[in-house]
Amino acid sequence: MSSTSVAPLDASKLVIHKTTQPKEKLPNEELVFGRSFTDHMLTIQWNRKTGWAAPVIKPYGPLSLDPSACVFHYAFELFEGLKAYRDAKGQIRMFRPDKNMARMNKSASRICLPTFDSEELITLIGELLKLDRSFIPSERGYSLYIRPTMIGTTAGLGVHTPDDALLYVICSPVGPYYSTGFKAVRLEATDYAVRAWPGGVGDKKLGANYAPSIKPQLEAAERGYQQNLWLFGPEKHVTEVGTMNFFVAFKNADGTKELVTAPLDGMILEGVTRDSILALAREKLDKKEWTISERYCSIKEISDRSKKDEVIEAFGSGTAAVVSPVKEIGYKDEHIKIPLLPGEESGPLTKQIANWIAERQYGIVESDWSRVI
Ligand code: PMP
Repeated sequence: MSSTSVAPLDASKLVIHKTTQPKEKLPNEELVFGRSFTDHMLTIQWNRKTGWAAPVIKPYGPLSLDPSACVFHYAFELFEGLKAYRDAKGQIRMFRPDKNMARMNKSASRICLPTFDSEELITLIGELLKLDRSFIPSERGYSLYIRPTMIGTTAGLGVHTPDDALLYVICSPVGPYYSTGFKAVRLEATDYAVRAWPGGVGDKKLGANYAPSIKPQLEAAERGYQQNLWLFGPEKHVTEVGTMNFFVAFKNADGTKELVTAPLDGMILEGVTRDSILALAREKLDKKEWTISERYCSIKEISDRSKKDEVIEAFGSGTAAVVSPVKEIGYKDEHIKIPLLPGEESGPLTKQIANWIAERQYGIVESDWSRVI
């Protein structure tokens, strides 16, 4: 078959099979992250010779795959995570889906799964959201978590390029990550396990990056820490925290301040929340007071500067929690304390940033990051 007959992903070919058994909706306070799903899912088959088949929205349900399918043996799997929000007018808004689609295409390309036109998939996800819109909670702090996934489905145990793939999208209504608002976390600076390395795939959202991260997390949890703060290299650079990007704010001797996060050098995931925070910080923070830096800082810098009261805030950033304030970092025998506002679970900058982002997610402040469907 000539390459011209390989079909591109085409949202106009969508076929919809509606459920005949709509699910009961859980009350908001019973929503647990990623536990309950909406009535429908989007599925799109791909084959190397024929390209993308007609997209299908059908009732949420099990997949049927050959036990030798390459996803089960060689981890041909990648995923994304983004959210849709209901605004005050009841409209549904996706937050920066173009960024997630671009990242999904990069992940796909790295493990020889097919790429696709981002706008076509955004349109298709929009159709899924319209159909399942009654699952999207309306309260502030609530949203619909969208999980696009792609797997290699070719049967056979040879280690080679998949000839078949399945792209599917499922959705889960979710509440605030911490039901009590912010809950500052304790991190264990981890150097006995490494999440990612130069030339590796730490900047891709591959399932294979996540399974190995659980054991170190359990070990940290045994010592009373909620997340690993992943260090890298002889300098013990701080890279990420758990499944979030990491930000730390320093105060300099002359009173100026610096917000620091690790650079995009291929080792950290290119977080959409990270990008949003950098853009907002650069736009909104007083330039005479603040420098916004994408640079490495070492655990030693954090430890040394904490002793001089120069560490003023730290937080993780990601789609699930948006921002997650940090109150302590454990490193060997040290307990590095990070200040919080008196009687509160975050510092002032963390709180301000969370608010700037929420205003855009819920359409309180109009922005081209928010896409009404
Ligand atoms: N780092 C890792 C390892 C992650 O899994 C995530 C969650 N996707 C992030 C950072 C944050 O990325 P985002 O802001 O796009 O959710």
